[in-house]
Amino acid sequence: METVKLYEQDAYRTAFSTVVEDSISEKGIFKVALRETAFYPEGGGQPADHGMLGGVKVLDVHERDGVIWHTVSEPLPKGAAVDGEIDWARRYDFMQNHSGEHVVSGIICSTFGCSNVGFHMGSDVITMDFNTPMTWEQAMEIERRANEAIGRQIPIAALYPSPEDLARLEYRSKKELSGRVRIITIEGCDTCACCGTHVRNTGEIRMVKILSVQNYKSGVRIAMVSGNRAIADYARKHGYITAAARLLSAKPEETPSAVERVLEENGRLRYEMAELRRRIARLQAQAIPAGTAVCFLDEPSAPARELREIANALGERAEHVMVTGENDSYVIRSGRNQARVLLHALKENFSIQGGGSEQMVQGVIRGDRAKLEGLFKAAAEKIQE
Ligand SMILES: [Zn+2]
Repeated sequence: METVKLYEQDAYRTAFSTVVEDSISEKGIFKVALRETAFYPEGGGQPADHGMLGGVKVLDVHERDGVIWHTVSEPLPKGAAVDGEIDWARRYDFMQNHSGEHVVSGIICSTFGCSNVGFHMGSDVITMDFNTPMTWEQAMEIERRANEAIGRQIPIAALYPSPEDLARLEYRSKKELSGRVRIITIEGCDTCACCGTHVRNTGEIRMVKILSVQNYKSGVRIAMVSGNRAIADYARKHGYITAAARLLSAKPEETPSAVERVLEENGRLRYEMAELRRRIARLQAQAIPAGTAVCFLDEPSAPARELREIANALGERAEHVMVTGENDSYVIRSGRNQARVLLHALKENFSIQGGGSEQMVQGVIRGDRAKLEGLFKAAAEKIQE
């Protein structure tokens, strides 16, 4: 027998008493069907309700051929009288977000003459796909109009039109429909076939906030939050921006330009550091007596891309040079075309990546620097003999 759907009659019903009509166990998972239920089963993009039933947890809810099956944490016997209570905070959050989606999708579809081709309601954001391109500015205009509609507290009504009325009605639909069709209307915003749960009027959506617009297939995917979620999102992001502004000693609205300045300053300092390292390498090279066989230099703050130049400067005076830099980077330069031989000599004691020519090899070497220096010098001196 089909389950009586209390949530369709009254989406605000949180508690009910009923009887277990059927009880099954599938691979250790317990499921019960009830005479009537306020638990919304997953469908139409809206996740299933959670809550308590007869003192046990309701973990999931699905509809199969008109019967609503509740996955419960422990078995409930057939014929038992049970009280049910849905997790209202979770459900109301879905109702606000689902209703927000109707307002935004309805406005988008009528404005762009497009269709909603995808919908997913997650626990953090909802995503909607449309088969039309859209710019961020256009999306912001849609958001402005949606929030205006929210301020007008427009009733959200559910109707079951006769087949004749339905044939005359223009409405959005996510799939081919058969049987009794439930139409949700929000005057001036949306007319849509939908079996989900909605708030009474748009005022309860409180606000919608579009978070991103990405190109997706031939249209766009929009991520959005509504209701308490949107307000919490605003509070959280205000926290982020205030913290960032404080670190930058800037006003919140000046944060982007302050970050830009810091990045520019950082780039300039990196450049100056590189210049200084080059100058030091040249000075070090000058201090090396001509004809020196081997030179080892550890420059722990030098990025890998600078090591070649440093090695070349030192190589003007020393025959075999090894320079190590940040993130375990290294360069070996050999004026006698023995770079690969030198690298090979280190392989026994160190984990090494990279390669190159007989004149120069570079890559990553892990291990103790002092030990590395000793072994490199020993290997280079052996070649000199
Ligand atoms: Zn709906």
